[in-house]
Amino acid sequence: MTAVRIERLALIGLGLIGGSLSLALKSAGVVGEVVGYSRQLATRLRAQELGLIDRPADSVAEAVQGADLVFIATPVQAMGGVFAQMIETLAPDALITDGGSVKGAVVAAAQAAMPEGQWRQFVPGHPIAGTEHSGPDAAFATLYHGQRVILTPLPENDPTQVARVEAIWRVAGAVVEHMTVPHHDHVLAATSHLPHLAAFGLVNALARLEERYEVFRYAAGGFRDFTRIASSDPAMWRDICLANRAELVPMLDHYLAELQGLRRLMESADSDGLAQAFAEAKAVRDALYRPQSTH
Ligand code: NAP
Repeated sequence: MTAVRIERLALIGLGLIGGSLSLALKSAGVVGEVVGYSRQLATRLRAQELGLIDRPADSVAEAVQGADLVFIATPVQAMGGVFAQMIETLAPDALITDGGSVKGAVVAAAQAAMPEGQWRQFVPGHPIAGTEHSGPDAAFATLYHGQRVILTPLPENDPTQVARVEAIWRVAGAVVEHMTVPHHDHVLAATSHLPHLAAFGLVNALARLEERYEVFRYAAGGFRDFTRIASSDPAMWRDICLANRAELVPMLDHYLAELQGLRRLMESADSDGLAQAFAEAKAVRDALYRPQSTH
């Protein structure tokens, strides 16, 4: 296995995803110095106070100077600007990776912003771990323990650089898998992006009811479970949905067709059809997760 040693980590984006990777690498003792940048001074100072970074930088260019690893953990729509700001100061042998939830748009942004010699240094990744909390205070060292990280290496990447990114995630406790960029965006539209849309949509639908106060007063565990992720950061999820809309819109249509099917079964009072649809869903979910009691 590749031994991991990072002399200087440049962390761009100092929230849950970036901060947690930094804490994990620091607690494993594999990183010399962490230099961090985010737009707001208050975020940088808080990240320093919490020990996510050792030193704040005033710009992306300053943060990446002298770094052997650059980890980008900003919202995905900001990444193009981040790539553009590092071209002057990035070391020729520096490794760049990211934690963005969408890969096609981020790879296109890297290729548009940087010369080929530099974007080849970018090994895209996506940790399948998170919470509905954001910002530096949300970061914790064990976020990635036992969680999957999907790398979507580019044909132009140096295989030793890909192996280094894998080794870094393993140090953070993650299980690493590979996918192509388009396959990642297709699968994640289904498993992550669509559920977030559904949760945001359900909360809004109920909030627009005249009797919403009463509805929410009697909302129980099922509503809470289903909608937990609607507490996620709105700007981050706007970025993700827009960046992956080519995959997400057809996935949403697929879900709407399923809901329409349920609607038809109820309209026609098709008891067997409804029971069968629910039984199919229960069998799939029970096979994925141990059944738990819900109320
Ligand atoms: P977060 O907690 O909100 O942190 C985002 C950080 O980026 C903040 O420090 C923010 O600080 C900074 N930032 C925003 N715009 C910036 C810009 N233009 N330039 C530099 N810094 C900027 O978000 P997160 O949950 O860590 O998510 C980060 C990335 O990970 C996103 O791409 C997301 O898709 C991905 N991801 C998230 C999850 C999840 O569950 N949260 C899971 C997997 C992957 P300032 O406001 O000071 O700029």
